[in-house]
Amino acid sequence: MIDATGAVQAEAQWAFAATPLAELTAIWQSTLYRLIEQIPASIRQDITRIAIDGTSATVLLCDRQGTPITEPLLYNDGRGIAMMEQLKQIAPANSVVLSATSSLAKLLWLIHHTPGTLENYYFLHQADWLAFLLHGKLGISDYHNALKLGYDPEKLEYPSWMKQLPLPPILPKVLAPGTPVGDVTPEIASRLGLHPDCQVCTGTTDSIAAFLASGAKHPGEALTSLGSTLVLKLLSHTRVENADYGIYSHRLGNLWLTGGASNTGGAVLRQFFSDRELEELSHQINPEQESPLDYYPLLKRGDRFPINDPDLSPKLEPQPANPVEFLHGLLESIARIEARGYQLLQQLGATPLTCVYTAGGGAKNTTWTAIRQRQLQVAIQPPRHIEAAYGTALFVRNRF
Ligand code: ADP
Repeated sequence: MIDATGAVQAEAQWAFAATPLAELTAIWQSTLYRLIEQIPASIRQDITRIAIDGTSATVLLCDRQGTPITEPLLYNDGRGIAMMEQLKQIAPANSVVLSATSSLAKLLWLIHHTPGTLENYYFLHQADWLAFLLHGKLGISDYHNALKLGYDPEKLEYPSWMKQLPLPPILPKVLAPGTPVGDVTPEIASRLGLHPDCQVCTGTTDSIAAFLASGAKHPGEALTSLGSTLVLKLLSHTRVENADYGIYSHRLGNLWLTGGASNTGGAVLRQFFSDRELEELSHQINPEQESPLDYYPLLKRGDRFPINDPDLSPKLEPQPANPVEFLHGLLESIARIEARGYQLLQQLGATPLTCVYTAGGGAKNTTWTAIRQRQLQVAIQPPRHIEAAYGTALFVRNRF
């Protein structure tokens, strides 16, 4: 919860335990209510607008009462692979929907596997459904969540090729992120102690919210996530799309948030070192000196960005006996891949890089930051806020 100046007024968290798919929506619902109830009652009444960010391409079907009729299909659920042939016949070759995990592939899969009349069902993203629980309106989404459903954020419409698909009239109406949809329902207001005039707005996706939370806001500013994998996002005047490299852009007001994701990253570091070893050994590295070791650290074959090669072999040889040298080679090599990624985005037309914010488990490694600074040749900043929720709150404070 933030105020008009952007200062945090309250913060609440709830950690998920591993949950069977069938129970997941019930857990999402109780978690949402618990989170709101954790905000001190005295200031909960002051909340004027709420928006929710959700995991991109985590989707479900529900009935006209909003009750889920299927288990949710999570962001990484690959069942949509079965629909790819059908989709390839119709969607343009560079479309972001041409992935087994896209929302559109999942919708086609659900249509194929759900008995009954689909006209009675709504297809919603995680954030849409959670917002429905508060405002009671079904069939509404935002153009961030809807991108992987095929929605065109430039023309602000569903593209005409989608009409050729056997889609029932259940596609959500798409609004800009942060647009007020309605007040909380009277039941929710009294149950959760919210003001009856509190508005619920359209949401966004986790990664866009995390980008904005970092503090990046000008064209040329970027966020690198050094988590299990390496994810780059660069704010640009121009829209960059390249299906070969898995590059696509989200609309952010009059700008575009373009990015790509590599399979390299912290998961490979974890294969060789504990987090404690990473910290201790990193302190022994001289980051001013470039490591001559040239690796392509991967857990298994294949990468898409910045090298598009499904057969690319992990390159982790030669492995020096000294673990400090080995780690130096790994950190240097991941930094080179990051620099190559930003170069590729710029070659494809993105606004030149001016500064990089960093998030994820690797962000705290100051040695790595110094290595990356040498490779990237721009300033590297710690994120101002690490919780994605902060970025979502910015949408309703200061609409994009
Ligand atoms: P995700 O959410 O993508 O799973 P996190 O953002 O939690 O990942 O980051 C976890 C990763 O960070 C791990 O893969 C780990 O190897 C890496 N990591 C943790 N500590 C360090 C460190 N000191 N230096 C570099 N990498 C680190």
